[in-house]
Amino acid sequence: MSTPAADGSANDLSRRALGLAISATVAVAQRATALRADGHTVLDFSVGEPDQGTPRHISDAATAALHDGRTRYTASAGIPELRAAVAQRYKKDYKVAFEPSEVAITCGGKQALYLACQALFDRGDEVVIPSPHWPTFGEAVRLAGARPILVHTQEKDGFKVTARTISKATGPRTKAVLVNTPNNPTGAVIDPDDLLVIGDMAQRRKFTILYDDTYSRMVFGKSDPPALQQLKDAVGDRFVVLGTASKSYCMTGWRIGWVLGPKKLIDACAALVSHSTQCPTAFAQFGAVEALTGPQKYVHDLVTEYRRRRDFVYEALNAIPKVSCVAPAGAFYAFPNVARWLGPGRPTSIELARRLLDEHKVAVVPGEAFAAPGYVRVSFARPLDELKEGLERLSTFLRGLP
Ligand code: PMP
Repeated sequence: MSTPAADGSANDLSRRALGLAISATVAVAQRATALRADGHTVLDFSVGEPDQGTPRHISDAATAALHDGRTRYTASAGIPELRAAVAQRYKKDYKVAFEPSEVAITCGGKQALYLACQALFDRGDEVVIPSPHWPTFGEAVRLAGARPILVHTQEKDGFKVTARTISKATGPRTKAVLVNTPNNPTGAVIDPDDLLVIGDMAQRRKFTILYDDTYSRMVFGKSDPPALQQLKDAVGDRFVVLGTASKSYCMTGWRIGWVLGPKKLIDACAALVSHSTQCPTAFAQFGAVEALTGPQKYVHDLVTEYRRRRDFVYEALNAIPKVSCVAPAGAFYAFPNVARWLGPGRPTSIELARRLLDEHKVAVVPGEAFAAPGYVRVSFARPLDELKEGLERLSTFLRGLP
């Protein structure tokens, strides 16, 4: 059935499509691109991808695969070599055991999330999402017919998700809890003890843990890796990992991600892929095998560089009057509170981001995109000199507000 548009005319789009909100991150990026096209130099901290290129040995492996004729369809769940490489990587890094048959390769982490939601949720299901959160979580849950239930973490707690907040939000309709650690946009890392308590809860109340570990290799402290095997032992078949090669290996444009979980879920994801994208790009999968099994020094160097930037950004933001920022424990985003510059007669964080871009050519994403007005997200996946200049401009702009 077509839906009447605001002007009363019949609208050809589905309710599903009409209900989709265009991501605020994309909106900022589009405005920044338009300004650049007009000849302006924009300092773009809205980006969610590393500024470094893909390591050469990975590109070489994909190029060799192309020359070897790896240009045909692959199995919908991915090539066996990559399914095995992902399982091996998790075994090595997190001591958690998944069989290659418990791994589906996807077109990026976004498709991993989309497939898991389509395979697991029905209308009426509720999915608990700690917030501030990455906007795609809510949309992917809604596209599967389920209802996102946001639970708000607090700046005073370092935006950490606790078992207590999750417990309060779960109920008889809870089908899953979505844990994203380190978190986009706050950089918060969940405490291992809280993770295990949530695991016990999942086992008792029979909900799935969707564990998005997109930024898991980008952690700045000296903490132990998360006890994923213990979590898997507690949760059993309801433990599902969503991951990606995008960030750790600087491969955002390659579109390679994965779902790890029980075989029946993996088979369902593969069936969905077989009727949509068919398979992830063949030669990109061969490049990803090299990323996961080849030298990992690159990842460590990347984290060292991002730690340096994190330290700078954290100090520079907190040095701006009336701005406070929690130290991001991982990922590459800072999420400063700028609320004391806002309020009646002053801009909202959306207006603040727009004016910062138009008047000072600095792009940040307003907190509204992450269900957290009063904040902005600053990506520090940009060179240090740009960050220095950009945060000076932010400071000048804020001090100039009435
Ligand atoms: N999860 C989170 C939390 C993210 O921030 C992103 C990227 N912004 C993704 C998943 C998906 O990344 P990709 O599709 O590039 O693999």
